[in-house]
Amino acid sequence: MKTSEHSGWRKQLFDFVSYLRGTEDAEWQKERRLSFLRNEQKVVLATIAKIEKEYADAAARHDPLAERMIAAYSLPDWKKMAGKLASEIYYLETRDEMAAGITPEQIERARAYPLENLLPEINKQGYALCINHDDAKPSMFTRGNFCYCFSCQWTGDSIAVAMKLKNLTFPNAVRFLAGG
Ligand SMILES: [Zn+2]
Repeated sequence: MKTSEHSGWRKQLFDFVSYLRGTEDAEWQKERRLSFLRNEQKVVLATIAKIEKEYADAAARHDPLAERMIAAYSLPDWKKMAGKLASEIYYLETRDEMAAGITPEQIERARAYPLENLLPEINKQGYALCINHDDAKPSMFTRGNFCYCFSCQWTGDSIAVAMKLKNLTFPNAVRFLAGG
């Protein structure tokens, strides 16, 4: 092997490893950013709930309008922040799916897929056997398109349930549920 060929091959390998490292870093950074954003979102939503409750309490007490306004004056800013956080989270969560050719409309449609079509038996109280472990009696509560297991705390929407039951990736579960 000539030196030039050798170094060409080594360069290719080096480029490939850097490429892998790059995608790994990007994935890690995305996850880190997402967990930061989700924590921020929790705080912001809790703050909004608190302000709204204070405002409702003030209204119930018939506090003067000025005082009620003071209690609620920062609400629009918090809501604006919540909106910004939600859009960035949505963007990061769906970026890879967009790259995989999934549209937001497909995700919406997949998310709205009725859970009762996916879970074999949901009883009258809304409980089904948990799909995350062997379940002797139904411990997974379903409501709309969401479910929550009171035994293992597994929670998910229709997409997550399809991923788990049919062992699909997110884009494939979306395609499966949205039909296309
Ligand atoms: Zn469970």
